[in-house]
Amino acid sequence: MINKLRLAIRNDLEAPHEQRTFGSGWFSGVGALITSLAGLFLLLSWQYPSFFSMKELTAVIHRNPLFETVIQGFLIVGFLLACANLILRRNKILGFSAICIVFLATTLGQIGQISHAAIAHTNLGLDWFALNLLLTGVLFIPLEKMFGRLKDQPLFRSEWREDLFYFLLSSLLVQSLTYLTLAPSMAILQHASHWSELRQMMASQPLWLQVIEVMFLTDLVQYWFHRAFHQLPFLWGFHAVHHSAQAMDWLAGSRMHIVEIIGLRALTIIPMYALGFAESALHLYILLVYLNATFVHANVRFNVEWLKPFIVTPRFHHWHHGIEKEAIDVNFAIHFPWLDKLFGTYYMPKNQWPSGYGIGGHPVPNGYWSQFLYPFRRKN
Ligand SMILES: [Zn+2]
Ligand SMILES: [Zn+2]
Repeated sequence: MINKLRLAIRNDLEAPHEQRTFGSGWFSGVGALITSLAGLFLLLSWQYPSFFSMKELTAVIHRNPLFETVIQGFLIVGFLLACANLILRRNKILGFSAICIVFLATTLGQIGQISHAAIAHTNLGLDWFALNLLLTGVLFIPLEKMFGRLKDQPLFRSEWREDLFYFLLSSLLVQSLTYLTLAPSMAILQHASHWSELRQMMASQPLWLQVIEVMFLTDLVQYWFHRAFHQLPFLWGFHAVHHSAQAMDWLAGSRMHIVEIIGLRALTIIPMYALGFAESALHLYILLVYLNATFVHANVRFNVEWLKPFIVTPRFHHWHHGIEKEAIDVNFAIHFPWLDKLFGTYYMPKNQWPSGYGIGGHPVPNGYWSQFLYPFRRKN
């Protein structure tokens, strides 16, 4: 039953192009599903803050009396869009599901007002996921619609469910990752008294300068980390998951093996923290790196040629994912392409884009868990 419902929803989301035109009820259906789910997640995180929400967000957003109104706003918009879908579209599965979600959320809201029990002490960060998805979606979906390079690539392209799941996981992981990197940083700091002068000097620089320095230092580390993951066979198994994406868009960059995420964050953030950069600079950097990663994977045709020598552009990183032979093991930098020039791995044929994406022969299986196990199962 649930499987059938899931399949029906998926089929309508992935409907052929001619059934997704304006006025077909497809846009209202998708909008209804997204807003009602966002409303549900935000409601859960608001009612059960100790279980579903991020500590930092609880302090900033949840105590704001407007938050309840915002949740209700989402549910009302979701409901109205669902009605539009039911009127306009012959296949009513999206609108129907959205209405069920709205009802579920309002029922939970009623129950929650009676018994306000906290469930546990772990926080899932569902609020962060919902806000994250809404913010990046609001920013990048129209951007890809207006400046898309591959015009016929749909929003729900192949393997979108896997990548959305990666997006969910990486959002939920934000806080445990912060925690995981904080403990070793503290341990280092306990033995760091003899470089406290350096730390003070670092922290006293202007914020923008600190961010640029962090960008440079982390990209230097990241370049060799990334190159090692390409060239050492055991590590390649993990990184192959990132390269298995056969379509590039704002969601594709989220696809990354958890081992690689933890390794990369640990090797880049812990040293920066130990060097004494201000926490605000590191937070700003993480936000920047996140937006940048989304941007360089996006399906956009910006050909900002004058920026090309200084900063990584979508075309530069798309070549890193290219299916062509020439695109193997090139363009490792995330911020500064001249690192690739310096180390001899720069590849940017004039005004061209790769003809396709992925790994030759497409050895990585589909599905999150198969991809999770892939590096351990791989024989060669
Ligand atoms: Zn790579
Ligand atoms: Zn990538």
